[in-house]
Amino acid sequence: MSFRRRLVVFLFATLAVLQASTALFAYSFTRSTLVEQGKAQLTAADALFVRQLDEIGVQIAAGVEVLALDFALRQAIAQRDHGTVLSALRNHGKRVGATRMLLVALDGAIEVDTGDSDAGSRRFGFPELIDTAAAEGRASSVVAIDGKAYWMVVVPVLAPVPIAFIAAGVPVDDQLLQKIQGLAALPRDLALATDGGAGRWVSLADGPGAAGLIRLLPPISALLSPEPMDMVSDGREDLVLAAPLATPPGSPRVIAVIGYPLAEALRQYQPIILAPFVLLAGGLVVALAGALLIARSVARPVEALALATRRIEAGDYTPPALLAQKGEIGQLSAALGSMARAISEREEHIRHQASHDAVTGRLNRSAFDQIMAGRLGGEPAALLMVGFVRLQEIVKTVGREIADRLMRDAGERLAAVIGGASLARISDTAFGVFAPGLDGDAATALARRVVAMFEEPYHEGDLTIDAVAEIGIALAPVHGTEGSLLLQRADVALFEASRAESRTAVYEPAADPHRPEHLSLMSDLRTALDHDGLRLFYQPKLDLASGRVAGAEALVRWQHPKRGFVPPDAFISLAEETGNIQRLTRWALASGIAQAASWRARGLALRVSVNLSVRDLADAELPDRVAGLLSRHAVPSSQLMLEVTESAIMGEPDAAIAVLRRLAEQGIALSIDDFGVGQSSLSYLRRLPVRELKIDKSFVLNLAQNAEDRTIVRSVIELGHRLGYSVTAEGVEDEAALAGLTDYGCDHAQGYHIARPLPADAFDRFLDEARWPGQRLAAAS
Ligand code: C2E
Ligand code: MG
Ligand code: MG
Repeated sequence: MSFRRRLVVFLFATLAVLQASTALFAYSFTRSTLVEQGKAQLTAADALFVRQLDEIGVQIAAGVEVLALDFALRQAIAQRDHGTVLSALRNHGKRVGATRMLLVALDGAIEVDTGDSDAGSRRFGFPELIDTAAAEGRASSVVAIDGKAYWMVVVPVLAPVPIAFIAAGVPVDDQLLQKIQGLAALPRDLALATDGGAGRWVSLADGPGAAGLIRLLPPISALLSPEPMDMVSDGREDLVLAAPLATPPGSPRVIAVIGYPLAEALRQYQPIILAPFVLLAGGLVVALAGALLIARSVARPVEALALATRRIEAGDYTPPALLAQKGEIGQLSAALGSMARAISEREEHIRHQASHDAVTGRLNRSAFDQIMAGRLGGEPAALLMVGFVRLQEIVKTVGREIADRLMRDAGERLAAVIGGASLARISDTAFGVFAPGLDGDAATALARRVVAMFEEPYHEGDLTIDAVAEIGIALAPVHGTEGSLLLQRADVALFEASRAESRTAVYEPAADPHRPEHLSLMSDLRTALDHDGLRLFYQPKLDLASGRVAGAEALVRWQHPKRGFVPPDAFISLAEETGNIQRLTRWALASGIAQAASWRARGLALRVSVNLSVRDLADAELPDRVAGLLSRHAVPSSQLMLEVTESAIMGEPDAAIAVLRRLAEQGIALSIDDFGVGQSSLSYLRRLPVRELKIDKSFVLNLAQNAEDRTIVRSVIELGHRLGYSVTAEGVEDEAALAGLTDYGCDHAQGYHIARPLPADAFDRFLDEARWPGQRLAAAS
């Protein structure tokens, strides 16, 4: 129930209860007062009535006494002249209002009766009245005769002693009652009743308002109370007093009944009793108006506040309009307003945090994804991934705080140069720039400007840091139409950029090791490894001094079931980048060492060279695994050589160097493959346990024709020997090269001129047939 409705209901109920109880109180108070008053009135009226009757009796008696003194009448009585007596009684009776006059003899016999000419033998019915009249000179009483009431007055006729009695019966009828009422201001409800037989009261005379009064009386058998009674009948309520009048023996009982109609009495107080209800109706109108007013001043603002709260709950933080109210409601409204503002600020702050990088204040990766999702599709766009590859190193050197400031500065520099493009920090070391509308050329030009800008180092105090930006670019829609794919491709391009002189690279699908077809190639490679799908070929290494085959390089060969022959260059680097190389190396080591054992079994002392990848050096268990293989096949470590490319070991962490040392400690020779193409310094190599330098085939292939190559090869051989290395030349394709190398004192030669990489059985036939025999065990020992 709304506040407003409750308010109205409360006001209504309070008012109704209040007014109803007021009305009830007024009614019961008035009523009880009226009852008390009525009872007192009735008692007084009863006394008054009796007194009035007495007075009437006195008047009648006075009249009758005058008649009794009449000489003519006394004479007629004495002469028993009943005719004269009768006419005198009749005349006089009329005068005093009596309807019946009797002449009663001293013995009580009726001698003359104006109501009955044949009085003859009857006796007067109320002898007591005769006695009283004889003793006191007069007697009077109410009597009931034949269902009528009479006021019976008896006076003696004196001559001078009583000679007879005159009785006058004045009817106490409706008119008389009315007359008495008029004289004495008695209540209208006045009646005389007598025992009507059959247990009920019957009326003798009724006052003007007494109709039905008798019916209120309890039956004759019940005791009549001398007090006023409260009687209810036929929906009316009356106070009734039934007082017995003194009647002489011989007359039925006569009672005077006086009524006090309560409802009538109450009627004049009705306005007082009804007033509360009228007030209630009026009050309700006022209450309703009041409730509406209060609703305006209280409920409406409360409702407005409730609405505002619901809006806040739903996430609408516009502060509610301040209510022009003082007091609590006003305070509440103000508090709600500031609460809404505080929540919105806090939420704004949280939202900002959720979409921004805490360090640089730039957008973060997820916000960047959203921006790309909104703009990709349709027009071309470029995604530039600006990487700071040196950042980790910078953090280690100068600490996280300075590195953070450097990144902040980088963000500012980028923002200044990229124009309307979106900028975000998408990883620890990289920013992303999303530039809708930029094609490949424009993106490359932008990337160049960025690279150039970061040529200016970062300064902080005395500190100068070269941040060095590298940029990988992916283009939509050619390289992808989804943000995540573009990011992935820009990342691949970033890797390429680190190798490019310009430090920028556009994504090149062919060079992407993560392309789907490459991934399927890798899963095929794993299948090949599991199901013996790879072969190891062996290329002879000729000992130039002895003219014998002293060893063989193990080279992997893969005949793909669908693609046919896949050259190692096509999958080795891919296997390195996808983490599959270690399994391949394990397989090559196991196969190569097993082959060495098989040659040993036939008396051949051939040293097998297995190629290692740089990733293998991260495997700390490699030395133990190699040792295990050698001992399992009973091959001495001197019969295994491991080749690592020059570029692979440059700048490698200490852990990789430690693996090489542990291999060398086992007596396994280490060869630096493709020597001469990388930028290794001999001083660095000196720190490594290297036994052999293997001159890259690019210097050897044209040895006979190219004087420069000859100079290089000669220098390497001489320098290598001076530093204690043995030297091998690979890529020997002709006799001239072989002769030249022999001339220069090169230790070993390898190349198509001697033999192509061969399967093991072909290798064996080669040894049997060729001009170079294999090194025998006996010869070795
Ligand atoms: P690499 O270790 O420098 O191997 C020598 C490469 O030169 C071999 O190519 C070989 O077939 C080729 N070659 C030998 N003599 C001549 C010649 O007279 N003229 C010419 N033009 N080429 C000659 P291949 O077998 O294609 O192997 C390429 C590279 O693949 C190898 O270079 C090596 O780095 C890698 N590789 C091969 N097998 C494995 C392996 O089992 N494990 C690892 N990690 N790498 C391997
Ligand atoms: Mg090699
Ligand atoms: Mg090589």
